[in-house]
Amino acid sequence: MIVLGIETSCDETGIAVYHTENGLLSHTLFSQIEIHNEYGGVVPELASRDHIRRTIPLIKKALQNAHIDLHEIDAIAFTQGPGLAGALLVGASIANAMAFALKIPVLNIHHLEGHLLSPLLSKPAPCFPFLALLVSGGHTQLIKVKGIGQYTLLGETVDDAAGEAFDKTAKLLGLDYPGGKALAELATKGRPSCFKLPRPMRHSGDFNFSFSGLKTAVLTLIKNHEINDQMRADIALAFQEAAVDILTEKSLAALARTGLTQLVIAGGVGANIALRSRLLQETSRIGATVFFPEFQFCTDNGAMIAFAGAMRLLKQDTVRCPETMNCFTVKARWELETL
Ligand code: ATP
Ligand code: MG
Ligand code: FE
Repeated sequence: MIVLGIETSCDETGIAVYHTENGLLSHTLFSQIEIHNEYGGVVPELASRDHIRRTIPLIKKALQNAHIDLHEIDAIAFTQGPGLAGALLVGASIANAMAFALKIPVLNIHHLEGHLLSPLLSKPAPCFPFLALLVSGGHTQLIKVKGIGQYTLLGETVDDAAGEAFDKTAKLLGLDYPGGKALAELATKGRPSCFKLPRPMRHSGDFNFSFSGLKTAVLTLIKNHEINDQMRADIALAFQEAAVDILTEKSLAALARTGLTQLVIAGGVGANIALRSRLLQETSRIGATVFFPEFQFCTDNGAMIAFAGAMRLLKQDTVRCPETMNCFTVKARWELETL
């Protein structure tokens, strides 16, 4: 069966075609980073308008690249939430209109389920059950995954998400939005142990995280020092080391507590090389295995939505048939555990 996936929850328009037997056939993406850059963050109205411009051309391109015709699609999966309501509505409208016209089922996909399952697009893929560390721009969660739709939240951030902390710290260091990747690049020029930053909630005994104090510690450092380029790189490295320490330690503690031996990383911060190498090193030390999405599927994309849709379709779960498609909705807020 062939599933078309549509992702428009934030500032990336992502489209993909996934075949349940042959895997990913194609994917197309447009990132709006340039559009929002001058505002230092995502402007919701601009995001929605650009999704309107991009979605249909990207769908045509994805079908062309996959060498399939519109009528060969068996179902359409779209991101129903969480995300920006206006942006979500673009994908929802197009998905539902197409499904109605083609008389095929539509699948309402949770954006975080997409992220969570994205490492399953790679080989070797993890097997259920596994522990997932979701580290994105809006979320930082440790989740026990028993199967598709069987998610237990073990802990999450009590304030900023890890990606958000990378972005805010990058901004303090004068880098463009979203600065996570640029901060990581700057950190490669940093000298170790020049600055010591806190590891908030390191010993909290639970699986929750806190990143806002870490960002404030960077702000204090910058205020109290005459900062030159080398020091900016040193601070970037100190910040990244602190974030990597916390994420690694809590993930390992959650593996120990749950008895799980597979750790799956998902979300944009999963592209961070320092985090990847540290997790590879620490998991191999305890005989566990860590799985990452391909770099291109760490941040928002259509492939993860098409894949989650395909998994749901195979399970005959959350599938809505054309007859019941007289109304649809999006969910700006939506807890993963309610799936
Ligand atoms: P959510 O999925 O929670 O709604 P989102 O979709 O905005 O949020 P993602 O697209 O998964 O989040 O990830 C974007 C985040 O990943 C940004 O905060 C970005 O700075 C961060 N990021 C991307 N690459 C890196 C990197 N190499 N190192 C650290 N952070 C990174
Ligand atoms: Mg984005
Ligand atoms: Fe995301």
